[in-house]
Amino acid sequence: MSILVLGGAGYIGSHTARALVEAGREVVVADNLETGFRAAVPAGARFYEGDIRDRAFVDRLFENERIEGVIHFAANSQVGESMAKPLKYYDNNLCGTKTLLESMVAHGVLTIVFSSTAATYGEPERVPILETDRTEPTNCYGETKLSMEKMMKWVSAAHGLRFVALRYFNACGAQPDASIGEAHNPETHLLPLILQVPNGQREAISIFGDDYPTPDGTCIRDYIHVCDLAQAHILALDYLLAGRENNVFNLGNGVGFSVREVIEEARRVTGHPIPARVEARRAGDPAQLIASSEKAKAVLGWKPQYNDLHTIIQTAWDWHKAHPHGYGA
Ligand code: UDP
Repeated sequence: MSILVLGGAGYIGSHTARALVEAGREVVVADNLETGFRAAVPAGARFYEGDIRDRAFVDRLFENERIEGVIHFAANSQVGESMAKPLKYYDNNLCGTKTLLESMVAHGVLTIVFSSTAATYGEPERVPILETDRTEPTNCYGETKLSMEKMMKWVSAAHGLRFVALRYFNACGAQPDASIGEAHNPETHLLPLILQVPNGQREAISIFGDDYPTPDGTCIRDYIHVCDLAQAHILALDYLLAGRENNVFNLGNGVGFSVREVIEEARRVTGHPIPARVEARRAGDPAQLIASSEKAKAVLGWKPQYNDLHTIIQTAWDWHKAHPHGYGA
């Protein structure tokens, strides 16, 4: 039996597909290659190019392959873009998931682990954030992910679907051998943008707002290594395959770093001065997001391996130095 990784040519999807292959699992990857890269799909996984909004394509996956569980990354994930193009996010993230679930129910494949996000919480009531805390997204991306969670809940009640939603905090870093890593076009995430400066592709990093209610005025985030996220997906899948109940887990390190602290650590890792300039706030950004991941540790047995920012940035830097143009070079 195989594991179907939807969006397995993307950043977190490719690291998870790779971890599954390395764990000796049979892996099928499907991706529309809109933001993913064929070169990121691990050797050893069978690859299908197509879109989850295409019902015939999704049906073909379940008809051609013997799938025991699905890991679903196939979604758009940029906060800023979601504010400018909300309907794109409703279409891909919600309509795509609806088509996928219709096909899963029709084929009797009822196990799914999927990407949710810290953006489901919006401005948190307190940090660290617990899974039971209020969910009130401040951006359209988080809204569509929260709606995906709710869709799963109702499909579970009606059709016996079993799901785990993984609410990631800030994914970063790369496979330590630098063979795969983060590559977005255009890039919007903080760490890869910072590393474009020592890579000679950008003169300075912009800090989006330094008047937040945080110690240095810049936003605080919980940065979690992509390989630790990958392991959490495998644990969540095995948890469901063992017959355990639907669940939602935060995935973070439980430690927050400000934008200025991340830039400072990147200066140490790269040995480059990395000039920074303060600009206006970015719409939809909460001041502070820090996870409590105690539940994932207790229930799934998750043990993040990369829990210091220096190592996380070092793996990202190794990837970006070796692949300054992402998968294009
Ligand atoms: N950020 C920044 N400059 C940039 C990109 C991001 O100051 O060029 C800030 C952003 O406002 C947020 C944090 O860095 O507070 C992390 O942003 P990112 O887009 O990496 O992840 P998000 O938290 O939106 O998922």
